[in-house]
Amino acid sequence: MPEPTTLQHFIGGKPTAPAAGEYFESTNPATRRPLYRAARGNATDIDRAVTAATAAFEDPRWRDLSQTRRGHLLRRLGDLIAEHAEELARTETLDNGKLLREMRGQLATLPEYYHYYAGLADKIHGDVIPTSDRRVLNYTAREPLGVVGAITPWNSPLTLTSSKLAPALCAGNTVVVKPSEHTSASVLRLAELALEAGFPPGAVNVVTGFGAEAGQPLVDHPGLAKISFTGSTATGSRIASAAAGRFIGSTLELGGKSPNIVFEDADIPNAAMGVVAGIFAAAGQTCIAGSRVLVHRSVHDELLERVTARARAIRIGDPLEETTELGPLAFADQRDKVAGYVDLGREEGARVLTGGRATDGGGLGGWFYEPTILVDVDNSMRVVREEIFGPVLAVLPFDTEEEAVRIANDTEYGLAAGVWTTSLSRAHRMADRLEAGTVWVNTYRAMSPMSPRQGFKTSGVGVEHGTETIKEYTRLKSVWINTGEEPVADPFTMRS
Ligand code: NDP
Repeated sequence: MPEPTTLQHFIGGKPTAPAAGEYFESTNPATRRPLYRAARGNATDIDRAVTAATAAFEDPRWRDLSQTRRGHLLRRLGDLIAEHAEELARTETLDNGKLLREMRGQLATLPEYYHYYAGLADKIHGDVIPTSDRRVLNYTAREPLGVVGAITPWNSPLTLTSSKLAPALCAGNTVVVKPSEHTSASVLRLAELALEAGFPPGAVNVVTGFGAEAGQPLVDHPGLAKISFTGSTATGSRIASAAAGRFIGSTLELGGKSPNIVFEDADIPNAAMGVVAGIFAAAGQTCIAGSRVLVHRSVHDELLERVTARARAIRIGDPLEETTELGPLAFADQRDKVAGYVDLGREEGARVLTGGRATDGGGLGGWFYEPTILVDVDNSMRVVREEIFGPVLAVLPFDTEEEAVRIANDTEYGLAAGVWTTSLSRAHRMADRLEAGTVWVNTYRAMSPMSPRQGFKTSGVGVEHGTETIKEYTRLKSVWINTGEEPVADPFTMRS
């Protein structure tokens, strides 16, 4: 068997060997075969990357580049991603085991992230404020922050990195990315494409490695102006505390336990598909997974029959195959975590209606887990309260709209929610009352770089996507210019 490829950090526009000379191995989760070795980053590598990003930020080639030209670079990067979409999609599927057709779909949309922020780059500006003194010109300016640190998880590496990278560059910052150690390859390739697109060396840097060894030093680096993180709520909380202690901002996209609510007036076949999409797509490894389905008692059996039949028919196997519907979990610990939760559910009194076993994916040998449905559960059980991040659905019946709202909101999380109804007024009422940053009605798992998303409660802080996120990557300056020629008045009173 040939030696696996070796991947280096990408610092200052160049592949860079790790300071300690150490590497770690990445494995294909569908087959458990080694994929590549990647540089094992540490505090010295992070320091080199932040230094390169600082130099790029201060370099007139970047600092003085017009906003229009920044937009051109983003557009070019989007175009290059489109040209390399198949290569990037395959890289991600091999790395994290998500279906190739899912990753092809994500890659088909990914250029839009860069094209959207390309269009926005020359529309970032301040305002003129009419203070009470007409001789004063008061204006605001939106300035870039400096070096932004981006820490991302393994489930959708390029999409989640781009949610940060595109607006951060659009606003004039430079970036150091620390991807999950399970998925280093595609993000390194993205950094190469950014250089090819014309971003100056050091504008986009990637240090690969582990959270404690490379992620933490990035968060703690004094040269960092901002940290943008997607990952678990536990890690997000630690990162937010560290950032607050140094008075830098953090944008956090964290976990979820999202309710997918099916009312008695819903189109049940559609709702059943929406429930399947919510939890079994991506093998449930998505922060927005609709992992709790709340269903009106009068349609409970019909919905469950449909969802169970579809779950049992799901084709588990090689994620590279067009016909596969469920790939492996991304690594061994994740599969063990999912299996552990289902065992815990059994101990708590849940009944496993279908699934509930690890499999090897029809002989592939990887970390697969069957699509699993838990019934006889209530909202106090840990399997219903905690994020599993796998293909495990908990089903909770309800009798009234009021009860559905209460169960849906009875969670520490507030990332997303789905509502299935044909009543327009009920759709509006639910959208109003659900404590979630995203509410989908008669659809689920829809996302666009144009539409802002924000986690409520412990699901996050700050906004990603849309025009709103630009505020996360800029600071506001207020400039006062006295145009009057009169002598300075009473120096002991405040001016307005
Ligand atoms: P983690 O929080 O474990 O890790 C996320 C990233 O943080 C990884 O790159 C990890 O490195 C790094 N990290 C871990 N510890 C530290 C630390 N002390 N300091 C700095 N960085 C650190 O999450 P997972 O990777 O397990 O991802 C799954 C989680 O992400 C789920 O809870 C899910 O809900 C959430 N998620 C949220 C999304 C959202 O938009 N809201 C989207 C996708 C996922 P490494 O793993 O390499 O050690």
